[in-house]
Amino acid sequence: MILCANPRAQYVAHRREIDTAIAAVLERGFYVLGEEVRAFEADFAAYVGVQHGIGVGSGTEALHVALAALGVGAGDEVITVSHTAVATVSAIEMRGATPVLVDIDPRTYSMDPARLSARITSRTRAIIPVHLYGRALELDPILDIAKQHGIAVIEDCAQAHGAKRSGHRTGARGTFGCFSFYPTKNLGALGDGGMIVTNDPQLAARARQIREYGWVERYVSKTIGWNSRLDELQAAVLRVKLGVLDADNAARRDRAKRYDAGLRDCRLQLPVWTDDESHVFHLYVVRSAQRDRLQLALKEAGIGALVHYPVPVHLQPAYASRLPGSDALPETERAAREVLSLPMYPELSTDDIATVIAEIRAFERNP
Ligand SMILES: *Cc1c(COP(=O)(O)O)cnc(C)c1O
Repeated sequence: MILCANPRAQYVAHRREIDTAIAAVLERGFYVLGEEVRAFEADFAAYVGVQHGIGVGSGTEALHVALAALGVGAGDEVITVSHTAVATVSAIEMRGATPVLVDIDPRTYSMDPARLSARITSRTRAIIPVHLYGRALELDPILDIAKQHGIAVIEDCAQAHGAKRSGHRTGARGTFGCFSFYPTKNLGALGDGGMIVTNDPQLAARARQIREYGWVERYVSKTIGWNSRLDELQAAVLRVKLGVLDADNAARRDRAKRYDAGLRDCRLQLPVWTDDESHVFHLYVVRSAQRDRLQLALKEAGIGALVHYPVPVHLQPAYASRLPGSDALPETERAAREVLSLPMYPELSTDDIATVIAEIRAFERNP
């Protein structure tokens, strides 16, 4: 079986450092928001190129806490996309605000800035663009529109740790950058975790309070907050893995190049990318008019190819067509029918890549 993602392979590759880091935390006897978290927050903020990092419980919570720190709540609107993990949209609703949806660019799968201005109203408080599949999107058009209207940009970087465009890593230019450390992400914990980054000291302080009961100091709640903490074990593991993130991302790009070369003449739309750090290939996503049959043929050959995402958020039962913008998402709906994520992780072997390519070519000869 060739898995689509394989977090265990990364554990095995760095077993000794990870085991040592875990043992140190167990022995120290301090398990939540301690020195490992503080060190990891500083290391990760420095890596992204920003002043402040705030560790939280998950990627969903990073978005939720960032929106709360901005004071987004009932009656406010937040613009985002429907072609994303449901968490991007659910975080907005957790604040009681209204998600407003914009269609994607079919080449890049990210928010189409040409459709953004039409969705801005006097209630719009923030825009959440998603750096989907590991591709750092072009932020300038979105930042320009946000600046004109005086609204915040929260970068959803859950799939794009380390991706870099115009000299900036994802998360460095928005009001906030929000990251997930779910095990299969490019920087993955051995459980849940997330991080908010920002250059604004006041917003950083607010986010820091909100993630722990609104405390300014122990037992003194200055604002309404809850519990969204990162724990020491995850932070210790993430510090080890941050050290190999750039090498892992380079390995993912190397595998993407092999797929590109092997599939160039196939009837598939391949990822649009240039050979630089702007893509970190969280997923290697192709497009096919025969997606379902291709996925089945690969499955029968023992290859785990998954769909990200089969049902766009605005068509999920919980959201069924009630979100503003839902009636104008043709590219989102077409992508959901055609995209397929091929196996992709840093340790994926050349032989396995060759097998995937051969099976796709066999399918095309005999569909
Ligand atoms: C994974 C993911 C999230 C949510 O992160 P969790 O840690 O699972 O809560 C949010 N947005 C995107 C784009 C994601 O891929």
